[in-house]
Amino acid sequence: MTATLMDGAALAKRLRAELKDEVASVGDIGLATVLVGNDPASEVYIRLKHKAAKEAGIRPLDRRLPEDTAEEELLELVGELNEDDSIDGILVQTPLPAQIDEERVMRTIDPMKDVDGLHPFNAGQLYLGKQTLVPATPLGVMTILDEYRIPLAGRRAVVVGRSPLVGKPAAMLLLQQNATVTICHSRTDDLARFTLDADVLVVAVGVPGVVTADMVKRGATVIDVGITRTEAGLVGDVDPGVSEIAAFLTPVPGGVGPMTIACLLGNTLQAARYRRGALAFPRV
Ligand code: NAP
Repeated sequence: MTATLMDGAALAKRLRAELKDEVASVGDIGLATVLVGNDPASEVYIRLKHKAAKEAGIRPLDRRLPEDTAEEELLELVGELNEDDSIDGILVQTPLPAQIDEERVMRTIDPMKDVDGLHPFNAGQLYLGKQTLVPATPLGVMTILDEYRIPLAGRRAVVVGRSPLVGKPAAMLLLQQNATVTICHSRTDDLARFTLDADVLVVAVGVPGVVTADMVKRGATVIDVGITRTEAGLVGDVDPGVSEIAAFLTPVPGGVGPMTIACLLGNTLQAARYRRGALAFPRV
């Protein structure tokens, strides 16, 4: 058996085309990105996000600050973007330099403009099962699972990784769909014992090959979120041998990556609707 590859690139393309029509019906929508320093991977992500935004009819604003920027200076810029009525979404690219407290920055973003879903208000809403703005990568994971009609209710889902950006929100979304969810991390003893039990396995670690074929249940659905740059190109967390065991598998590249960008644009549209009162945002 060879797994069906879940084509995130094709799905993202379709979603972005649909989104373009919706954006046009809302009018002018602004997405501000803030990049501090020159991390090459972050620069690539920013470029991709801007290109995708433009194609969808969203107006991107590219704000950059030097590597040695003081935290207060970044907070000031975020405050300025919060006040700017022409900006609907704010995304501060992570990782941030060591002198900046990432959580403080996220807490400063207006929750209604928080398209990365990292403000504690939005994270809390997700925890309560009342989702508002949710991080784009786990949203992309759920959208792929839905597209391929992967059953979740009553199934065992295992998420490897517990970051606030990917692992934890993915686990919450799976729980909301009535999966029975286990979260594994770097301190998990005997990872395979858990992964072998998974009907749906989401791997978001950043270590190539952390999940191998002998760690996967036959017929499982495996979502590979990991992205690591190697000399051979981008690779995921899941060993290629898993395709002989799994029924469905996301490729890297071309799986979750393009879905993240499509869902970020979706979040920007959602933020624009909140700001225009077309969607109700819970009072903070
Ligand atoms: P992160 O913040 O570094 O979190 C990694 C998680 O993996 C942590 O929870 C860590 O556990 C866990 N972990 C580390 N080594 C492990 C091991 N040997 N066994 C089990 N768990 C282990 O990274 P992230 O932001 O969540 O991103 C994860 C990966 O996804 C990265 O490769 C990143 O590039 C990729 N990513 C892809 C997209 C996309 O669009 N496709 C978007 C975002 C991120 P502890 O909590 O115990 O440290």
